[in-house]
Amino acid sequence: MNAFDNALSQLKRAAKIARMRPELLERMQSPEREVRVSIPVKMDDGSLKIFEGYRVQHSSVRGPYKGGIRLHPDTDINEVKALALWMTMKCAVADIPMGGGKGGVTVDPKQLSKAELERLARGWVRRLAPVLGPKVDVPAPDVNTTPEIMQWMVDEYEKITGDRTRAAFTGKPVKYGGSEGRGIATGMGGFYAFDALRERFGIKHGASIAIQGMGNVGGNAANIFSEHGYKIVAMSDSKGGIFNERGLDVAAVIRYKEKNKSLKGFPGARAVSNEKLLELPADVLIPAALENQINEKNAKRIQAHMVLELANGPTTPEADDILLAHKIVVVPDILANAGGVIVSTFEWEQNLKRTHWSEAVVLKKLKAIMRKQSEVIGDRARREKIDLRRAAFAVALERIESALKN
Ligand code: NAD
Repeated sequence: MNAFDNALSQLKRAAKIARMRPELLERMQSPEREVRVSIPVKMDDGSLKIFEGYRVQHSSVRGPYKGGIRLHPDTDINEVKALALWMTMKCAVADIPMGGGKGGVTVDPKQLSKAELERLARGWVRRLAPVLGPKVDVPAPDVNTTPEIMQWMVDEYEKITGDRTRAAFTGKPVKYGGSEGRGIATGMGGFYAFDALRERFGIKHGASIAIQGMGNVGGNAANIFSEHGYKIVAMSDSKGGIFNERGLDVAAVIRYKEKNKSLKGFPGARAVSNEKLLELPADVLIPAALENQINEKNAKRIQAHMVLELANGPTTPEADDILLAHKIVVVPDILANAGGVIVSTFEWEQNLKRTHWSEAVVLKKLKAIMRKQSEVIGDRARREKIDLRRAAFAVALERIESALKN
């Protein structure tokens, strides 16, 4: 099953319990628009390479399409369709005035020079500018897209259209119209959701945490959970991870990775593969890398009591059933990692209003939304005796249904 099949399966499970007309399910299964483009890029050696790029606009029922752009060698149209569907649900869960979309390019950005990467980013915008815009579709960062890439993109968009609001892209550097707090928003939002829900699932303050992935989301989550008194026992990047049951010094791990480009040889910790990291004895497991990491093959070996999904789609529907049977709580991606899109929406709002909020204001607003929606979904799950994913999808579908009726 590809990621889109998984997303459809989650959608259908929730549609059975959501109070909505059956037509909405039909509508949600097909994105409103899918665009595939070829992007010619002049390489540094003078040759020309063509890259395949995508934008999927899943639903605009609740507002402009919103969602990141992923640069990864495995990215394809099915992955982008799944991510776009999850964005529709996530924006509805967060109750922000946005629809769902996602974009990407099939590319390994580590193989490109900085100049080639900039030409690719600008090329993506040149091809897709006609279907983007502050009131139409507002892309953001995702795997391998940095604030600098978002700056190139918004600059290219301004050159093409004359739009000077900078509101057509979010995740920009603060100096270039970005929001305070956007860099840490997904990790921070994940912490707020966790903090709102942990007691009802018996997770104590100071619990041990294993984190897969240490990019924007996983790296910031490690810092934030550690600063709030939690014990980070495992961390990893794409090449593998490290484990110490007594806890890792997160700042030292991040410094080591920056210097050595890998975690290999980090002193005082055992090396673990990314697969083994998921099965370690930790109270909480945070997948913060890619899809399908927890699947029917390894779900029965997961030892954590809670899985906090900061990656998108890390758990397959088959694994969901196994985790549920083992009484392992899954805080679903469309709630747990909504902090990124929430602060992206704050950035869009600040750009349109030509204002700039302090980090304290941004985080206060983020916390209020994450806590409120975590409680709404936690209560729904408890009332109907369902898992948090079904509850989150049901809440999202009902909000979309009511926007359709208005
Ligand atoms: P990133 O590019 O900053 O980092 C990705 C991390 O995953 C890196 O540490 C990389 O080494 C690691 N990784 C890559 N392949 C791996 C593998 N096979 N096994 C283990 N680790 C691997 O990306 P990011 O922005 O941190 O995104 C991570 C996840 O969070 C994605 O699923 C993304 O869709 C999701 N997400 C991101 C945001 C955001 O604001 N950036 C918001 C919501 C959700």
